Amino acid sequence: MELVKASPEAQLRLLELADLDAELTRIDHRRRSLPEVAEVDRIDARDAELRDAIIAAETNEKDLGREQAKAEADVDQVRTRSVRDRERLDAGQVSSPRELEVLQSEIASLLRRQSELEDIVLDVMERREAAQSSRDSLRAERDELASRRQTAAARRDEVLGELGEQSEKAADRRAGVVAQVPADLLDLYERMRVQHGVGAAALRGGRCEGCHLTLNTVDLNRIRAADDDEVLRCEECRRILVRTPDSGL
Ligand SMILES: [Zn+2]
Repeated sequence: MELVKASPEAQLRLLELADLDAELTRIDHRRRSLPEVAEVDRIDARDAELRDAIIAAETNEKDLGREQAKAEADVDQVRTRSVRDRERLDAGQVSSPRELEVLQSEIASLLRRQSELEDIVLDVMERREAAQSSRDSLRAERDELASRRQTAAARRDEVLGELGEQSEKAADRRAGVVAQVPADLLDLYERMRVQHGVGAAALRGGRCEGCHLTLNTVDLNRIRAADDDEVLRCEECRRILVRTPDSGL
């Protein structure tokens, strides 16, 4: 591995960079775990359920409408026949006792049939009304949900906007710091950041603040003997170890 050298000032910039990267990561994490985002997602999921349920209720209502029309037509047909029979009876067109008996028995059976069919119409009407009322309450819930979504989405966008501003500011500050770090040092930092999440850590009180391990005497002595522009690495976590005035050396 090539040996990177950098002035103590440039090395200290890495700590600012690590702080800014930690801040950007925090902002990003907050952005992805916002309860406001989850709330809108929940509303959208419920809305999709309601949309499907409304379609099903509408289909059901239409089917029952057709069923009702058919049952009503059946009633009409029987009623028409029964009226016609009665007219024949009343007009005295039927004179033979045998025919008369057949006609009277047909009228009686048509009346029974009509009553049965009317019961069917009533039953279908009741089911249709229930379907309509279920469809209406689903629509009302969906309308109410739409207004809740509007409020929740506005809240979410407001928080996302604030986080976006914070993120932009941190990114600007980061660009300013990056401009003061030599390319090879920055490259090493970025590689460590990809591997460990945090690219550089301070040495404070004989401890690496990246992995929180206290360095042993041998390592500390090695660091004491190192030149100021030597870029050190923590033996434990491999992060860039930056010496500070309170490193305890
Ligand atoms: Zn370490």
